[in-house]
Amino acid sequence: MFKPPPAVKVSPSRPMEPPGSSLFNDHAADKRERLKSNVGYVKSMISRATPAQQAKNEKEFNDVVADYKTLRNLKDYCVHVDLDAFYAQVECLREPKYTRLPMAVGGDSMLSTANYPARKFGVKSGMPGFQAKKLCPQLVILPCDFKLYHKASWSFHQVLSKFDPDVRMAGLDEAYLNLSNFVADAPDGYSMNTVAYDGECQCNRPRKDDITEDDEVISSGDITCTICGMAQLYFNCTMNFSPGIDGMIRMLRMEVAMRTNLSCSAGIASSYYLAKVCSDINKPNGQFILPGDNDALDTFILSSPLKLFPGIGPTSSNSLAEFGIKTVADLLNHKKNLRFMVSNSQYYLLTRIVAGVDCPPDETEESTNETDNGIDSGKTVGTESTFTPTSNQAELVSLIRSFAKSAIESAKGDGVTSVGILFVKVKLGSYDVHTCSQKFNEQVPLTNVELLQNVSETLLTKFIAKQGKKDIRLLGVRYGELGMAPLSKVQTGLKSFLNKPTVGGRCVKRRKLEENTDPVTVIDLE
Ligand SMILES: [Mg+2]
Ligand SMILES: [Zn+2]
Repeated sequence: MFKPPPAVKVSPSRPMEPPGSSLFNDHAADKRERLKSNVGYVKSMISRATPAQQAKNEKEFNDVVADYKTLRNLKDYCVHVDLDAFYAQVECLREPKYTRLPMAVGGDSMLSTANYPARKFGVKSGMPGFQAKKLCPQLVILPCDFKLYHKASWSFHQVLSKFDPDVRMAGLDEAYLNLSNFVADAPDGYSMNTVAYDGECQCNRPRKDDITEDDEVISSGDITCTICGMAQLYFNCTMNFSPGIDGMIRMLRMEVAMRTNLSCSAGIASSYYLAKVCSDINKPNGQFILPGDNDALDTFILSSPLKLFPGIGPTSSNSLAEFGIKTVADLLNHKKNLRFMVSNSQYYLLTRIVAGVDCPPDETEESTNETDNGIDSGKTVGTESTFTPTSNQAELVSLIRSFAKSAIESAKGDGVTSVGILFVKVKLGSYDVHTCSQKFNEQVPLTNVELLQNVSETLLTKFIAKQGKKDIRLLGVRYGELGMAPLSKVQTGLKSFLNKPTVGGRCVKRRKLEENTDPVTVIDLE
């Protein structure tokens, strides 16, 4: 049974740093400087490229995309579900008044998320708190409470695993499911008895707005909410959902709402990459289906902003934007020069995005070396997270234990059953990164949560003892030398979906494609 991670003691947010002197700004300026010099270098390479070279680049791009397009599987239903402004929503459950007031979670150095009222002022996740306060002086910034978020995430996971037992969590607030088989066996649709709420009280979900004309309201009434003390209207109803994927996902979202009081958005497409882009379209509390036909796919992909795709982080998207590349359509206009702009692995990621097919999760890593004993020595799996820099040891220990636990969850999702080595990553307030590791004498099963948490904690406390009391801004736990379950046990998970026989050819194909090219690597984007 799941045991929530130990309590995280949160410190009050620290005093505002003067913008000019903060580490954040130094670091950001540093990054901009590096980006500028890289861009200058690439532009000079482009100006010297011969037409023949560019024609060759263009042909290569078209060939690679055409080849990847043969891997499209239009009948698959890949689903990405994402909780809306997760930390902020959870904080609103604890303190309902923040539903209406601009609020963010994080600290002065970085915000993890902002609620929708704050977003109206331009406040965004990843933004330093002091900057956000300039945009919205009345913004309330709450410290992160990971214990609470892990609990909510666990309930979310439990609902999702009823729909796909091999659901793959991609963080606390988002997950990938494969519902290709599931939707086929309910020709009459689905129904669910629930209560929807309205009124001044915002504590409970689903909301009355979630009721459609297909649903039946059986009875209704008004009471006073026991949590916030405000007027609450309730509607006992039977929600009916149409057969097929649209109804199924609507039911899934209502079930998440009912069990967690949180709203989520979903994207449905023939690949996980596209599903991720789709889940953003009708956010918050909405869903979007990309029809599985080639023309619809191509049109959709062309207009999509690159930064929405998994694997395209802020560094990549900022760097590409320097060349005027923001959408996939822009990318196509630059295909003759793309080789000069990105690293080899980014090149293949981008061509896959254009083709609308997924990358195996380990795309950017070196080849995996699965040996006879089923131990994969090349791959690792883990979790890491940035937070308000702190040197509070009790708080850091709590965090590392909860990361050790969530890394176990994501390893399980990948079909891992045991690990041979554990890494702890620490990023200091000064942005120096350190990694410590512990090699085990024999494989440790993932069921031994306590041991893996203890080892993570020991590595961290030893590190702190050696370094002295310093601010830490990121922690991560990663497992390696992974013992894998036999494939049959993870048949429908994302990983095995990507590797199952019908699409297994793609990995071989990919390797072949990549070996045959003579890449020009200029910027390593990430
Ligand atoms: Mg989210
Ligand atoms: Zn209430």
